[in-house]
Amino acid sequence: MNDQTRLKTIDDFMLNSELPLDLDDLMAILAEAYQVPIALIGIVGQYEETFKAKFGTDLARINREHAFCSRVVDEKKQLVVCNAKEDPRFSDNPLVTGEPNICFYAGTPIRINDQVVGAVCLIDSKPREMDEKRLKLLERVGALVSQHISLSREHEALKREHGLIEKSPIVLATWRYDTSLRLVHISNNSERVLGISAHDLLEGLVELSDVITQEADNAFTFAMQAHMEGVESHSCRLQITTPSRTIWVSMISTANFREDGALYSVQAFLFDTSDQKYVEDKLNKTNQRMRLLLEASELGTWDWNLAADVNQVNKRWCDIVGIEYEYYDTSARFFRQLIHPADYVNVEKMLHDHLKGKTSVFNTTFRMKHTNDSWVWVESYGKTVETDERGRPVRIAGIHRDITERMERELHEKKKTQLLQFINKTRASYLQNNDLTLACQTVLPELIDISDSQFAFIGQMKGEGETSRLFIHAISEIVWDSSSFTQYNEYKKRNLYFSNFNNLFGTTIVTGEVTISNVSGSHPNSKGVPKGHPRISRFLGLPIKIKDRVVGMIGLANKFDVYTVEDAEFLQPLLDALAGLFYAVELEEGRAIAEEKLRRLAMTDSLTGLYNRRAFVDECNKVSQRHGSGCVAIIDVDHFKKVNDTYGHDAGDQALILIAGKIAKQNQAPGVVARLGGEEFGLVVFGETKEEIHVQLEALRIAVEESTLTYESDKISLTISIGAAFIEDTFGVDFSSLLSDADKSLYLAKEKGRNKVVWVS
Ligand code: GH3
Ligand code: MG
Ligand code: MG
Repeated sequence: MNDQTRLKTIDDFMLNSELPLDLDDLMAILAEAYQVPIALIGIVGQYEETFKAKFGTDLARINREHAFCSRVVDEKKQLVVCNAKEDPRFSDNPLVTGEPNICFYAGTPIRINDQVVGAVCLIDSKPREMDEKRLKLLERVGALVSQHISLSREHEALKREHGLIEKSPIVLATWRYDTSLRLVHISNNSERVLGISAHDLLEGLVELSDVITQEADNAFTFAMQAHMEGVESHSCRLQITTPSRTIWVSMISTANFREDGALYSVQAFLFDTSDQKYVEDKLNKTNQRMRLLLEASELGTWDWNLAADVNQVNKRWCDIVGIEYEYYDTSARFFRQLIHPADYVNVEKMLHDHLKGKTSVFNTTFRMKHTNDSWVWVESYGKTVETDERGRPVRIAGIHRDITERMERELHEKKKTQLLQFINKTRASYLQNNDLTLACQTVLPELIDISDSQFAFIGQMKGEGETSRLFIHAISEIVWDSSSFTQYNEYKKRNLYFSNFNNLFGTTIVTGEVTISNVSGSHPNSKGVPKGHPRISRFLGLPIKIKDRVVGMIGLANKFDVYTVEDAEFLQPLLDALAGLFYAVELEEGRAIAEEKLRRLAMTDSLTGLYNRRAFVDECNKVSQRHGSGCVAIIDVDHFKKVNDTYGHDAGDQALILIAGKIAKQNQAPGVVARLGGEEFGLVVFGETKEEIHVQLEALRIAVEESTLTYESDKISLTISIGAAFIEDTFGVDFSSLLSDADKSLYLAKEKGRNKVVWVS
């Protein structure tokens, strides 16, 4: 029953070996005390009982089946047999019937790890009694034997361990703590491993601090202090120098504390790790070489200890952003401050993803602020190189490469494409709608975007010479108060002009040169910002020119960065495109004006500036498309031939001009006045009644009669005759027949003596 566990315990405690327990003396004392001839310690194995200590017999072992002790083991309790010869359980036992003729037996269990492995027993060849008190004493002896076996086993193991250690390359040392830590034990291999004699150390002839370097002494002191402060285990590396050699030793120490928490002792293993150190040094040297290689390859390096928040970088890293290596601040906060605000979120995200293990490497590009205020594009490539026991990153290391040139080239290319698309869009919009203002307004947001600006305007010069002004096709919404609101309203009505050029933007128009101002108010022509406008911190004025003539400009303001000549050069294609469009519009407008001039010329009488007959007919046709009452009249100068004959043709012309002026003055819109030919004029006048119009025509007649033409020294009097036809409603009227009626009335006026108004009846 559960003999397996019991037998294993016997094995573990090496009780099945031949080795005696060294307790024969105890057996002798026991036999004497109990007045028995034989006392034994028997261990009951699988088949036999072995006597590990004995008094009064030479028997070494007996068969288990005959062993009295076997019953103690099976029943796990004391057994007393007073007279075996009369006991049916033992009467035929060969140990009873033969040597050693057992008659009395008293056995008490030996318990190790809760297993009864054997018994301490007293034997006599004659019958005996055993009182309770003595039995109890025997039980206590059994317990003591059990304890002895356990202790000696532990002792054996310790001895074996020590033996092992003495032969091993590991030195075991123990310090005891009372007021300080005192070395109380160090294994004998110390001399061999460390080169310091254990004896010398224990006797205090040599102090550990005498043989280790100052640095190692510090490390050692630190370890011991750590233990005194409650640190359970610690490891460090010490360099030990003896007259014969120098070695590197790793020390792993463990503190033992009392129940009240006070330090009791420190135990440490020390072993030579010089080989490992050599490899490490070599690696470090390789790293050093790697570092030099990195320096040469223009790569910045960074090595960020997250826990300590120390970001170590190399000199090249500092060079990239123009920082003096000596003044570099190792906190991550410092590094973060250098990141461009527009890139910050992305960098943090990439870093977070890597730290969370979502990416195997941290690889991204971003801008960093250079000490010269410019932005440097860097490519950062990093990787976790150290993690804590829970696998969380504690150190990331990587490289920085300055890719500003490449990025700027790429961005420039991208922007160039964008610019071309943008120019095409402007052209397309203009061609589609034939509306330059609309085209400019459509592309304004893109212009702002492409130039990294906050505000912009596109203006075109209108008018000639002194009176020329800048018409604003498009401008950013800059309504900040009522004055800029008024301006913006004018803009909405397409009626915004800038006419004062004695200021910052005006410089572009006046000089025809690019204007750059990167510090507010610094430009000599800067007049400050008009009331109700946002602050202009930076400004770029770009002239739009046709040949050398400034035909307009683009104004850009508040770029995040500084405006440069390169910005102006970059936008030149746009300026050229706008110049082309402006030119096209100018041509178009010029053609329209010329056409209008021609048209007017064809309709105008060159002497008087009035409509000619053809125009009069056209205008009369227009009048006939409207409702309203009025009259059509024909005016003829009286005896004009005489004027010509008396004063000359030129005087006649002057007379015609004078009369034309009177007629034109008398006429009120929407009336029509024309010179029908010779000294004959046509007139359409509006009025409610014939009487009302008559008053008008009379006034005209009188005005001419009362005027005098002064030609050279002559005073020439003139009169006119008027034939007029009243029209109830002009709508759909046939003016040609009305005119012939009026002509008849004119004839009548002449007949009646001239200088008269005669109505068609
Ligand atoms: P009446 O009172 O009957 O109209 O007499 P009149 O002399 O005005 O009439 P008539 O038709 O005989 O003469 C018109 C003259 O007007 C004839 C012509 O020489 C003159 N005339 C026509 N056109 C012009 C012109 O453009 N300039 C000048 N100076 N004379 C003109
Ligand atoms: Mg006439
Ligand atoms: Mg006439």
